[in-house]
Amino acid sequence: MIQVSYPKLKLPPSLWAATATPAPDTPALDGDARADVAVVGGGFTGLSAALHLAQAGAAVAVLEGAEPGWGASGRNGGQVIPGLKADPREILARFGPENGEAMVRASGAAADLVFDLIARHGIDCDGRQTGWIQAAHTKPMLDGLAKRHRDWAGRDANVAWLERDELTRRMGDGRYHGGWIDKRGGGLQPLSYARGLARAAQSSGARVHGASPVQGLLRDAGGWRLQTPKGILTADKVIIATNGYTDGLWPGLAQTVVPVYSVQVATAPLGENMRGNILSGGEVLSDTRRVLWYFRQDAHGRLIMGGGGSAYESGAAKIYQGLRQRVHSLLPEAGKVDFEFAWNGRVALTMDHYPHLHELAPGLWAGLGYNGRGVAMATMMGKVLADRALDTAQPDFEFPASPVHPLPLHALRGVAVTATRAYYRLRDALES
Ligand SMILES: Cc1cc2nc3c(=O)[nH]c(=O)nc-3n(C[C@H](O)[C@H](O)[C@H](O)COP(=O)(O)OP(=O)(O)OC[C@H]3O[C@@H](n4cnc5c(N)ncnc54)[C@H](O)[C@@H]3O)c2cc1C
Repeated sequence: MIQVSYPKLKLPPSLWAATATPAPDTPALDGDARADVAVVGGGFTGLSAALHLAQAGAAVAVLEGAEPGWGASGRNGGQVIPGLKADPREILARFGPENGEAMVRASGAAADLVFDLIARHGIDCDGRQTGWIQAAHTKPMLDGLAKRHRDWAGRDANVAWLERDELTRRMGDGRYHGGWIDKRGGGLQPLSYARGLARAAQSSGARVHGASPVQGLLRDAGGWRLQTPKGILTADKVIIATNGYTDGLWPGLAQTVVPVYSVQVATAPLGENMRGNILSGGEVLSDTRRVLWYFRQDAHGRLIMGGGGSAYESGAAKIYQGLRQRVHSLLPEAGKVDFEFAWNGRVALTMDHYPHLHELAPGLWAGLGYNGRGVAMATMMGKVLADRALDTAQPDFEFPASPVHPLPLHALRGVAVTATRAYYRLRDALES
C-alpha cells in the first residue's frame, strides 16, 4: 500500500468561506466499511459522482481529505461556463465525429446540469443562469469569438452576439470590442454549491466523510481497499476526483497535470450607483487575454476579479495587487475602492488543454484537468464517471477515456509555468 502524507487541513479564508451556507456534518471514516463505489475527493467532480451514483441506488462513500469544497470547488470565481476551451468544430476535428460529438454534447450541457441540480435539490447557492460573456480585448480577437458564436448558434445553443455598444452598456465601460453571450452559463456561490451537492448526495443515501485523506489504495481479492488514518473502506469500484490536489495515491496520475495557483480578489459591496453599471444583469465575464481577466458581481454587489496564476502559493500573493489595479481601472469613477478578500486555490492544467478521463485499472477511474474551467465541466465529469461505474454510459453523451501520459520533465513544472506566464503577460501587454 502506498503511503501518502496528508496534513490536517482547515478551510482557508475567502469571500466564499465567509458567506457560505453551513457545512454539512461529514464525520471522518472510523473503522472498516464497505461500499459499491468509493469516491476520493469531495469537490464538484467527486460530489456530483456521488450524488448521481446514490440516486441510481449504489452504495457510495466519499473520502475527502479536508471537507467538501475545500479544494478549488470552494474557492473559484463561481463562473458557470458551458463547453470546453476548444470550439465544437475543433473538438470534432480532433476526436472524430463519434467521440467528438459526445464530448461537445456533454460539455455543452454541463452548465444546464449545474442549474438543474440546483433547482432539483433546492441548493441554496445564489445560482443564477444569467449568462457567460466572452469579450474581445483586441479587434482581431473578434473573429475567433464570432466563429465560436456561430458554431454554438448552429447547434441551437442559447447564445447571442454582442456588438460593442451592447457590451459597453452591460459593462459600463467601452474597453472591449464586442463579444458573445452564452445564456446557458451564469454564476453561483461555489462553496455553498459544493456543500449543497454534499447534502443532496447524503439525502440520496451517500456517505460523505471529511478529514479522511486516502493514504493508500490497493486491490486484493475482496476489492479495492482505501486506507485512511482511522479506517479502511473496501469498494468494488473507485473514482479518483482530486484534480489540482492530486497526490501520489496512484502512480503517475499527479504527473498528468500541472497544478497552478489561481487567484481572486473581492471588493466590499459596491454602492448602488456602481452596482448598476457593471454586469448588473448577473452576467459573468471572461476576456480573450492569454492571462485572462474574469469578473462578476456576487449576490451582495461585491466585484470579484480573477486571473493570473503562479506555480507557487507565495507567487499567488504577489498577483493580488495587480488584480486590485484591474478593479480600479474598471471602476475609475468609484474613487477609492475597499477590498475585503484575496485568496487562491489550485487548478490543474493539461498539455492538450482538454479535461481527462482515465481508466486507470479495471474498476478504477479518474477525472481531472479542467484547465481552470471546471465549475460546470467537473459537475458533468462526475455524472459521466458515475455512468461509467454503473455501466450506464451513454455513447452519445460521453467523455472518451485517454491514456495516462505523465508529462515529461514534470519536476520542472514550476519553472515552466513561471516562464510561460511571463511570456503570455508580455504578449498581452504588446497587443493591448
Ligand atoms: C481561484 C480559482 C478560480 C477559478 N474560477 C473558476 C471559474 O470561475 N469557473 C470555472 O468553471 N472554474 C473555475 N476554477 C476551476 C474550478 O474551481 C475547478 O476546475 C473545479 O472546482 C475542480 O473540481 P474538482 O472536484 O475536480 O477538484 P477540487 O475541488 O480541487 O477537489 C479535489 C479534492 O480532492 C481532495 N483530495 C486530494 N487528495 C486526496 C486524498 N488522497 N484523499 C482524499 N481527498 C483528497 C482535496 O482535499 C480536494 O478537496 C477556478 C479555480 C480556482 C482555484
